[in-house]
Amino acid sequence: MKIYLTFDYELYFGERTGSVENCIIHPTQLLKEVADKHQIKLVQFVDVGFIIALEKYKSQYPSLESDYEAITNQVRTLYKEGHDIQLHIHPHWEDCKYNGQKWEMDVRRYKLADFNKEEISDILHRYKGKLEELTEKGAQFTFRAGGWCIQPFEILREEFIKHGVLVDSSVFQNGHYESAQYNYDFRNACMKSKWKFNADPCKEEEGPFTEIPIGTIFNSPLFYWRLFLLGRMNPHMHKPLGDGVPVAAPGQRFKLLTRWTHNTISVDGYNAAILHRGLRQYKRLKKEELVIIGHPKALTRFGLKALDKFIEANKAKHQFTTFREQRSQLI
Ligand SMILES: [Zn+2]
Repeated sequence: MKIYLTFDYELYFGERTGSVENCIIHPTQLLKEVADKHQIKLVQFVDVGFIIALEKYKSQYPSLESDYEAITNQVRTLYKEGHDIQLHIHPHWEDCKYNGQKWEMDVRRYKLADFNKEEISDILHRYKGKLEELTEKGAQFTFRAGGWCIQPFEILREEFIKHGVLVDSSVFQNGHYESAQYNYDFRNACMKSKWKFNADPCKEEEGPFTEIPIGTIFNSPLFYWRLFLLGRMNPHMHKPLGDGVPVAAPGQRFKLLTRWTHNTISVDGYNAAILHRGLRQYKRLKKEELVIIGHPKALTRFGLKALDKFIEANKAKHQFTTFREQRSQLI
């Protein structure tokens, strides 16, 4: 099986964004050390809107200059060393301001489809251009939507073709969430581990795009009780390395603690305990790809150790790979 280890490289978007060092640079460095040890490559879905916001404000607020330098240097280094840098778009950065002390987050336009066609085209052009500047021309052809909000895709379709963004990894099968800020509904998604699509990423159809969905697992409420309790009991191992707070997701915690839910196969925190179970399930279903998701900011010491063991146990039997390595197969 081809296993993609993918990370959404970003700050938190709640009241406190957390620091660049603790949410991004340091945990990514730790991930890179694990990958280097096993000689495998990682995929970073870089929240490039933040890099562009830093660029906009850094001359006015020199303290942001070091954040900008740290991120751009790390992204350049990762790419040079063979890791994959792909496009993660949180367009709400267009509306966020730095006030000299902190980022004033405005997440009212959280998804690309909240913008008009001209704005979408402009965002895609600038964001992709910025990542190309840090890597090389044409290096970005894979997309992950911020908050997985890729729907409705029809309004994005033409611009994605124009910019050569032809692979998506935003869908996770059976996932479903709806709040004022964001929503996704993948309950009708194709159940394969890879498919072609045209105007709807959930639907297999002849078209210019390929979907490689994020791995999904079905979890009992007990799993989440354990997760929240362990965090309280052993914060050293189970407290996220990032120091911010997420955007409110009303009802989400209650749902996880009270019923069986479909969730992503993830390296974040205690979720890393079920990487093996996720892989076993995918093998049983004879799937050919498994995309594992993570966020450097949500990584814990426990998760890092679990990831290390997971790679060690599976690197001979499976192929840890990246979109960059699979490019000729995908587009
Ligand atoms: Zn994100």
